[in-house]
Amino acid sequence: MAKTIGLMGAMDEEIALLLERVENQETAVIAGIRFVKGSLHGKDVVVCKSGVGKVNAALAAQLLIDRFEAGAIWFTGVAGAVHPDLDVGDIVISSSCQQHDMDASPLGYPRGTVPYQEVSDFPADPVFIALAEEACTRLCRDHKYIVGRVLSGDQFIADRGFVSSVLYGEMEGACVEMEGAALAQVCGMNRVPFVVLRSISDKADGSADVNFAEFTKLAAQRSFEILNDMVQHL
Ligand code: SAH
Repeated sequence: MAKTIGLMGAMDEEIALLLERVENQETAVIAGIRFVKGSLHGKDVVVCKSGVGKVNAALAAQLLIDRFEAGAIWFTGVAGAVHPDLDVGDIVISSSCQQHDMDASPLGYPRGTVPYQEVSDFPADPVFIALAEEACTRLCRDHKYIVGRVLSGDQFIADRGFVSSVLYGEMEGACVEMEGAALAQVCGMNRVPFVVLRSISDKADGSADVNFAEFTKLAAQRSFEILNDMVQHL
C-alpha cells in the first residue's frame, strides 16, 4: 500500500475541510503551489490545491510524485453532470478519466484520443474505486453515487446539447470537469494509482452562473466526506 497519499483539489473550497483535519502540518511552496504534509487518521498525506485546469493538475501531480513521494493520488472536487440521472450533490467515482478537448479527429482519431499514445482513457485503481464505493454506501443517504468515466477539458461546460450529444452520447461520460484526466495521465505514465471523486455542483447546462457558487460548497463537502472516510478505512 502506498506510503504517502497525495490528496488534491483544484480550488480552496475543495481542500479547506481536509486542511482543517490534517495534523502535524509542514508547508512547502513549489512552482506557486502550496503543499501541506501531515497525517490524517494516522496516514501520511500531502494535500495540495493544484489550481484550475489540466496544466495545473498535471504539474501538481508530478510534483506530488517527485518531491513528496506520493504513492497514490486521490482527487476531491466538484463537477458538472453528464449522466442524465445525476443531480446536484450526487457523487461520481472515476472508473477512468479522459480528455474531451483532445481532438485530432481531422487525422482520423476519435475524440479524446491522444495521437501516437497507447492509452488515452486512463483507468482508476480498482482497490481505490472499491474503497470509494464502500464509503459511498456508508455515507450517501439522500443522494446517489455512480462509478463512471470522468471527462476533463480546459473549458467550463454550460451547454446541455454538447453534453448530451458529445460528452454522453459519443464519449459515454458520467461528469465533466477540468483536471481529472490530466492527473490521471501523469499517474498512468508514472505507474501511480489514482482515483477521482467528484460531487455534482451543476448540470453543465448554462444555469451554473446562478447556482455554481451556492452548490460548490455543499458538493465539495460531500466529496471531502467520502475521501475522509476512505482514508479512515484504508
Ligand atoms: N470558482 C470559480 C470557477 C472555477 S472553474 C468561479 O466561480 O469563478 C470550475 C471548477 O469546477 C473546475 O475546477 C472544474 O474542475 C469544476 N467544474 C464544475 N462544474 C464544471 C463544468 N460544468 N464544466 C467544467 N468544469 C466544472
